[in-house]
Amino acid sequence: MKILVVNCGSSSLKYQLIDMDNESVIAKGLCERIGIEGSKLTHQPSGKDKYVVESPMPDHKVAIQLVMDALQDKEHGVIASVDEISAIGHRVLHGGTTYSESIVVDEDVKRVIRECFDLGPLHNPANLMGIEACEAAMPGKANVAVWDTGFGMAMPEKAYLYAIPYEYYEKYGVRRYGFHGTSHMFVSGEAIKFGGLDPEKAKVIVCHLGNGASISASIGGKCVDTSMGLTPLEGLIMGTRSGDIDAAVVQYICNKENRDVNDVLNILNKKSGVLGISGGVSSDFRDIGAAKEEGNHLAEVALEAFIYRVAKYIGAYTAAMNGVDAIAFTAGVGENDKSTRKAICEYLGYLGVKIDDAANDVRGKNAVISAADSKVKVMLLPTNEELAIARETKRLTE
Ligand code: AMP
Repeated sequence: MKILVVNCGSSSLKYQLIDMDNESVIAKGLCERIGIEGSKLTHQPSGKDKYVVESPMPDHKVAIQLVMDALQDKEHGVIASVDEISAIGHRVLHGGTTYSESIVVDEDVKRVIRECFDLGPLHNPANLMGIEACEAAMPGKANVAVWDTGFGMAMPEKAYLYAIPYEYYEKYGVRRYGFHGTSHMFVSGEAIKFGGLDPEKAKVIVCHLGNGASISASIGGKCVDTSMGLTPLEGLIMGTRSGDIDAAVVQYICNKENRDVNDVLNILNKKSGVLGISGGVSSDFRDIGAAKEEGNHLAEVALEAFIYRVAKYIGAYTAAMNGVDAIAFTAGVGENDKSTRKAICEYLGYLGVKIDDAANDVRGKNAVISAADSKVKVMLLPTNEELAIARETKRLTE
């Protein structure tokens, strides 16, 4: 069974064709600059040379057609016909309060994706275009929506309600949703399997630390809290996002700088985080680490603040679950940066967390990095959102 996984942005389309018999990637690729001059498709069949197609892509329909052509290309292709694709799985950002579980797309699902345009203004319209493009290119095949907000929908009211007038939740769905849900679902499941934990009762904290960063607490794979909110702005310090902040800061900067709320929100999303604290060094954690090594004080503080915020959340989530069995690190920083993992865990001595330095000297593969006598199992578990989407698609269409 072959599943095509599609992740559409407003001007991009990422795809992977996955053979579900052995969960291997047959081909993957990226369409860039959709709707803009200079559109390009980069197609990477596994074990073969990269294939680049520079061709106008006025919209996602044309992009998906070029992907179909590449997949079936005589020289660079990996399938003889579209019939080999069983179903298509889509990453969809926001399902609002209607959907938490992945679902086969029908007109009702598309209506909800459309109704959530306000909640996911950059992603939901692109996600819908991707679905409609696949419906046109592969009529009759099932499309499955896997919601990035799905995992967080299991949070109880005490975790998801903001302490603001309840009417805003009722009227507009203003609540905490959480994002990176597919990654948190995948990694918390892997933590239970790889760590040999009780699938019903395991208390797991997943630290998804990349350019976007978020953290979740789950019991038996069910989310009890997660750090992103109505939008991905809340929670941890990120590459360019501030994470948690006193909302009054917005008004204060508006008044001082004579700017409007949209301007300041743009600053909090795109110019803050480690980029902001470091005085503009970089949003990339490798650059921040290198600047720190060169003696840049603000880069050092940015990294310390990032680590401190993660450690504070781990403390809070341990309290939320009245304990923690395992902590898992994932995403760019979590999978590759042993010193950040160690620095976070140094705050957790009170929980009986002990890192094994030799075991922590590892990148990008499943590993237990805690010492044998650590009271909490600490793991590195690479995330794989595409595989998680493919598994959901298989489950719903088999
Ligand atoms: P992601 O958003 O998950 O792709 O993660 C991207 C982030 O991971 C970037 O800020 C990278 O600098 C960071 N990253 C990747 N490798 C390393 C590394 N070896 N050390 C520190 N950060 C890294």
